[in-house]
Amino acid sequence: MGEAESKAALAGVYSQGKEPRLVSVSDTGFDEAWAIGNTLFIIPAIPTGAPALLEYALRVRREATFTGNCSVCGATVGTLTFGRGNMPFSHSSIPHRNNCPALDANITPQLVEHYRDRSGQTLEQQLKSATMQTRLKMQSMPEENRIPIKNAGFGKWASEFIDARLKDSSACGHLKGDVAQTWNMSTGDRSWKCNECFAYYQELVRKGEALLSYEEEHTCDHCRLFAPPLETVMIRVDNFYIVGGMCSQCSAESQQPAKSIQRPPRGKKGKRRGKNGRKRR
Ligand SMILES: [Zn+2]
Ligand SMILES: [Zn+2]
Ligand SMILES: [Zn+2]
Repeated sequence: MGEAESKAALAGVYSQGKEPRLVSVSDTGFDEAWAIGNTLFIIPAIPTGAPALLEYALRVRREATFTGNCSVCGATVGTLTFGRGNMPFSHSSIPHRNNCPALDANITPQLVEHYRDRSGQTLEQQLKSATMQTRLKMQSMPEENRIPIKNAGFGKWASEFIDARLKDSSACGHLKGDVAQTWNMSTGDRSWKCNECFAYYQELVRKGEALLSYEEEHTCDHCRLFAPPLETVMIRVDNFYIVGGMCSQCSAESQQPAKSIQRPPRGKKGKRRGKNGRKRR
């Protein structure tokens, strides 16, 4: 396929207006395969704990790959080589300007340095920093949705829930490639996701493209009663972050120290948490 045809083919991909979908993550966790329509793009993953500038550069590069234009330097998609199989593939080359952060020559040394720094840390150091990042993430959430981990009953429940899910649930390729990061789970979906995959999943939920059964969507994670509407709750244990839904009674109890629990009569509850009583925020 000649260059002009390649360009035309890629223009066709972008003009489909299809959302990019994450297809897979390499075993190392370094690369991701994304599809737009029937075209696959391989791009570098945004590594956990990346310095802000590196993360920014990778996001600009990713956005340019997905749209065909760079929002920073204005470059548009250039020469491409298409494969001849059923699935067309392109060496997407966007000629970013020399001062553009998304230029590979600018990104690569930073990526190499980041992975080298990280491999110089012990797993314990990495996990400690992952726990700190997860705590900060939790603190950025609305206070009324957070379950304080000091509530002994709910802290224990969450630890047991996490242990069970570590045995029976899948994890995204990024987590498999680098375990020392935040492990996110929506109780309705029950698969472990890194921050990036979790944000992507939540976006699908927001658009109504990731649906649960009606029954699961309205079943309290704690007492397992079908009790719509549920209240959105979040709990963190170390570097594990769980988002779920609880009935008003369980969620009221989760806010109190375990000993002083007084069950309010059903239906008469205190402050409502989420406006939208469904799981998977
Ligand atoms: Zn650029
Ligand atoms: Zn992931
Ligand atoms: Zn409940």
